Amino acid sequence: MVDLLIRNALVLTCHPDVLSGPIHSPGAIAVQGGRILEIGPSTELETKYAKAKKVIDGAGRIAMPGFIITHTHMPYVLGHNQPVDVSQLRSFWDMLQKMGWEWLEDITTADGILAGTQYASLKMLKTGTTTVCDLVEAPNALPGPLDASVRAITETGIRAQIGYEVTERVPGVPIAEQLDLAYAEKGFDENIRLLESLASTGGEDGRIQGRLGVHTAYTNSPATLEKARKIADQYACGIQIHIAEIPRAFLVEKYGKSAPEILDEAGLLGPDVVAAHCIDLTDSDIDILARNRVNVAHTPMTNSLGGNGVARVPDMMEKGINISLGHDCFFTLDTAEYIRYAYLVHKAHRANPMLIPPFQALDLALGHAAAALGLKEEIGSLHAGKKADILLIRPDSPSPVTPSTVVPYFTMTFRGCDVETVLVDGEVVIEGGASTRVDETAVRKACVEQAAALWKRNGIEATPDSINL
Ligand SMILES: [Zn+2]
Repeated sequence: MVDLLIRNALVLTCHPDVLSGPIHSPGAIAVQGGRILEIGPSTELETKYAKAKKVIDGAGRIAMPGFIITHTHMPYVLGHNQPVDVSQLRSFWDMLQKMGWEWLEDITTADGILAGTQYASLKMLKTGTTTVCDLVEAPNALPGPLDASVRAITETGIRAQIGYEVTERVPGVPIAEQLDLAYAEKGFDENIRLLESLASTGGEDGRIQGRLGVHTAYTNSPATLEKARKIADQYACGIQIHIAEIPRAFLVEKYGKSAPEILDEAGLLGPDVVAAHCIDLTDSDIDILARNRVNVAHTPMTNSLGGNGVARVPDMMEKGINISLGHDCFFTLDTAEYIRYAYLVHKAHRANPMLIPPFQALDLALGHAAAALGLKEEIGSLHAGKKADILLIRPDSPSPVTPSTVVPYFTMTFRGCDVETVLVDGEVVIEGGASTRVDETAVRKACVEQAAALWKRNGIEATPDSINL
């Protein structure tokens, strides 16, 4: 007897990828012990698994793998819409120093991380994201911010890789003036504490994993970068880092080298690295990333927000670099928006409508993202033996959704609010669009209160009113 049978759905397997993966319509998925047992035509599986413990009728629904976001900072939701004094922001450097650090990261507390991560992970699940890679940044909340992250993630039920950002940056001091190794050491300690605790607890049966966080090539010395590689090898946890999100000229002027060159020399790069942004790169920088088989987390919306340009995604793809999708939690948590923006921005940027077709845009948040996180055999597509991270989507479409139109539906029409049911490890965590695990009103209330508390530290009074609560 199987645990679950999803029947009568349009099953988009995306295995081995979106373009060549079979589509079953009507199809069915049998789930046993948190994993996919079999996928096939609905009539066949309904007969074979007639005694399933639970049956979900997927008529009128798309069944597909859950989306995967390979780079974000979930507590950043606390800074959404913060009415800061934008006249202080004259350049990208001001945005980093003020908006990113002084007005947000440096004043984030453990309670803020807990509430922000609960909210962000819940919203992601509700809109179809079942796995997230989160880089936590809160230097004045050390030690302990990752405990708050683990608690929030455990409660909502999302799959996650998390790490704390190792940086020599001194809170409140411009990076050009001073860096301090002691801050990096505190960051390493936080990561190691998490990695060792997950090794002993099992991390919710592997649903939560550690991934060592490193800030950038320009806020860490070569010694810190070398140490990061050593720790990543010791714990086999991989690394998440920001690369080339700032103008290349800054690093070349300061160090005589680009970020990929600095990181290559330090021996940090490798196939277990997820590098966010990767915008301002030369051909030789791209060659370095390709040679080291680095995975890129493409974050087109935040790159646009900072006025940092458009990453050379088509060129990187041509060189065989694995490109996945990240979002930084600066805008909505709806992966549909990021898929659509990635689908459009390169066409506009290169004046070429043939770039990034719909199947490729979807792969950024599915198979490519699973591979980036070292989870290719486990998630990112629907296939027997893989983890049962499954979405059921009820398309609100003005036109027929059929096996031949279902892929473009995702770039043209799909919104996260069309997601109805979400399974992680075979467990229904979202049912009828609502969480089965947490009180959503309480999660939102706590997040709004923590956002107001954070804003207050910036001198901004904003009492949560009935609109929020
Ligand atoms: Zn980031």
